[in-house]
Amino acid sequence: MAGLYLHIPFCKKACHYCNFHFSTSMKLKEPLLKALHAELELQKNYLKEDALDTIYFGGGTPSLLSESELNEIFEIIYKNYTVTENPEITLEANPDDLNKDKIKILQKSPINRLSIGIQSFRDEDLKLMNRAHTGREARESLEECLKADFNNITIDLIYGIPGMNDKAWEEQIQTAINYNIPHISSYCLTVEPKTALEILIKTGKIPNVEEEQSASQYELLINILTQNNYDHYEISNFGKPGFHSRHNSAYWQGVPYLGIGPSAHSFNGKSRQWNVANNPKYIKALESNQIPATTEHLSQKDLYNEYLLTGLRTSQGCSLEKINAYGRTPEFLKQVVSHVAAGFISKNRDTYFLTQKGKLLGDSIISSLFWE
Ligand code: SF4
Repeated sequence: MAGLYLHIPFCKKACHYCNFHFSTSMKLKEPLLKALHAELELQKNYLKEDALDTIYFGGGTPSLLSESELNEIFEIIYKNYTVTENPEITLEANPDDLNKDKIKILQKSPINRLSIGIQSFRDEDLKLMNRAHTGREARESLEECLKADFNNITIDLIYGIPGMNDKAWEEQIQTAINYNIPHISSYCLTVEPKTALEILIKTGKIPNVEEEQSASQYELLINILTQNNYDHYEISNFGKPGFHSRHNSAYWQGVPYLGIGPSAHSFNGKSRQWNVANNPKYIKALESNQIPATTEHLSQKDLYNEYLLTGLRTSQGCSLEKINAYGRTPEFLKQVVSHVAAGFISKNRDTYFLTQKGKLLGDSIISSLFWE
């Protein structure tokens, strides 16, 4: 089994915090889609015999694709790849694109899961982040999907937004629960280098994100969602039973995947490769049937560190059996002891997990366990 990721690098507006690859000009949409088709055909053997169990349209904003653009992509996928009988096919959609007609189009397509970029239900937060939608559109998009019985939905929510206090954050979470949304991905507003948000904070136009506030809102998120029967199955992901993301879970379990489109990453178990994050360069390379990718061969050390990074972020944890397969048991046991004593990591039989306290410091704890 394998996964397929397609990167659609166009957005209506540039969100202030975003450091993904995208363009707000649609000028190159047509040649870029042509290049994407060509890459799908050229890369059809990358996954060898593995059938696609998950397909994920990410970006950028894939909900900007028209019905015929989506159909054409699916035609090429089904012609060149084996797809399992019951695949999970997710499309990232922005609320302002999800009107009645668009939802009908999506329902007619093989897409069976929507990842909706709600981020916040409050106008002031959406404005601060320069999102293209309003709080009202966020609610309406969910209502339209639910009315149309498109229930397999995940939404993104952002915490740690300047000006959003704990009470307002609780209301956001409660709104998602009231809509009975079966899956929620929630991230802290992070100030990435070279983003508009970084400049706005540096010039004092927006107050800085307070670490303490973010930590308390993350704890609120965990407590409220787990009390409402969501499994906290990955550091930023919460799902009702039966609604965990199959695509992302496969990433975290080291399942191979192919990434198509500018900036998309691929992994085949031994190496990782990533396409150029530049639309004109991507198009030009594909015009001469070249894949504009950089490849990195992964050493045992790289694979071990990735296993710790992905395993400890999930509820599956990391097992001593696997750590032993990398020959790292003595070192790991020595490194982990202080984290267990501090209550950041717990152990169940031969498997280690981050505790709730540990999740707050997740990345720094995990990186302290790396094979340097
Ligand atoms: S819609 Fe998504 S990809 Fe596009 S700018 Fe906003 S956060 Fe980035």
